[in-house]
Amino acid sequence: MLFEGLSGKLQEAMKKLRGKGRVTEKDVKEMMREIKLALLEADVNFKVVKDFIGKVSERAVGQEVLESLTPGQQVIKIVHEELINLMGSANSKVTFSSKPPTIYMMVGLQGSGKTTTSGKLANLLRKQGKKPLLVACDVYRPAAIKQLQVVGSQLGIEVFSMGDKTNPVDIAKAAVEYAKSRQYDLVIIDTAGRLHINEELMEELQNIKEAVRPQEILLVVDSMTGQDAVNVAESFNEKLGVDGIILTKLDGDTRGGAALSVKAVTGKPIKFIGMGEKLNDIEPFFPDRMASRILGMGDVLSLIEKAQEAFDEKKALELEKKMRTQQFTLEDFLEQMQQIKKMGPLNQLLAMIPGFNANVMKDIELDEKKMARVEAIIKSMTKEERNNPSIINGSRRKRIAAGSGTTVQEVNKLLKEFEEMKKMMKMMTEMGKRGKKGLKKF
Ligand code: GDP
Repeated sequence: MLFEGLSGKLQEAMKKLRGKGRVTEKDVKEMMREIKLALLEADVNFKVVKDFIGKVSERAVGQEVLESLTPGQQVIKIVHEELINLMGSANSKVTFSSKPPTIYMMVGLQGSGKTTTSGKLANLLRKQGKKPLLVACDVYRPAAIKQLQVVGSQLGIEVFSMGDKTNPVDIAKAAVEYAKSRQYDLVIIDTAGRLHINEELMEELQNIKEAVRPQEILLVVDSMTGQDAVNVAESFNEKLGVDGIILTKLDGDTRGGAALSVKAVTGKPIKFIGMGEKLNDIEPFFPDRMASRILGMGDVLSLIEKAQEAFDEKKALELEKKMRTQQFTLEDFLEQMQQIKKMGPLNQLLAMIPGFNANVMKDIELDEKKMARVEAIIKSMTKEERNNPSIINGSRRKRIAAGSGTTVQEVNKLLKEFEEMKKMMKMMTEMGKRGKKGLKKF
């Protein structure tokens, strides 16, 4: 699993707060200490960790948590939101020039995955309707040109090459002319890398940049190299200026440091991630999905948000009081059902819960039908009847059944169930009261 160590530790740190009715400053401090250690162990940049902890701590002891009915969940939501911010908030797309061909210049150190990623990107954008040309500008590494040609032939994408005796700047210029004359609308230039950053390399890249004025310079970095990847990105960005980062080898057992720090340190977004050696293994980078994956949340966050949208917290408190004081009526029951419905179809909601068993879905559909009938019955009652069901005599029952398209038996059943529910509420409240005085009497 992605960032397994980090994921496990973060989840462990937050477990203690989940479902807590009250969160103290001490709870938050303790959790933040554990989160800090987990991030540092995952090789996240020290300054980034400090900043992150500061932001989360400040929010976690603030208004939004204190005033919430579910403070534990609120804190988790804050950690999630700040993780997303750390990685760049929204998905950053590559851009295209208004006048084709669009030119992307791929840069990065040797072994980062530049050649493979050039092929992957050409393949991905071709699926979106582009006609790409790959350009072999690495004239130093033996076999680099051959490697790109192999990638190109596997994909059925043309590779422009002039051998290893021509200057890379001239190759790039010629390639763009070639693309224009053959209606290619995307040119992806695979440039040379080095084992380390050096002046000579930067100068050559600078020259190619000036000669062809690429729409985007995409920096390929190897996530397995952790903080080194971040340092490399910082240097490339300072010396050459990059528009986006492609993080490779996220399928390996990388600890997560590069993914979590590179945007914060360089200010440049991660646009794609490499998830394997095959030419299909590339994905656009979504900070929110990555944060959910790291926190092992499935899509529970959307679920919490939906619940927050649908439920008014004040109303929930009123309802709870009504239940305690036996004033809960059919009218309240109807309102509650409608609030649940506002959140969307039940089976869709349940599907957001990680590990939810799909077999249960069939029963849910039946329940939804049942819910719709119950709703129809209550809606066919007058306000007076809803507030005081004891007045519903035989002729009223007939009228309600006819009005809701159900049967008298169904109306009877609902009224009986509602009475039983009220009895149960009463019992629970009394048990609660006795419980407080001490259970010995039982
Ligand atoms: P270049 O020197 O930067 O052009 O790097 P290459 O494209 O030759 O890639 C170096 C090695 O990394 C190759 O063995 C690739 O198969 C491998 N590689 C590239 N991207 C990924 C990735 O996302 N996941 C994995 N597991 N391997 C990758």
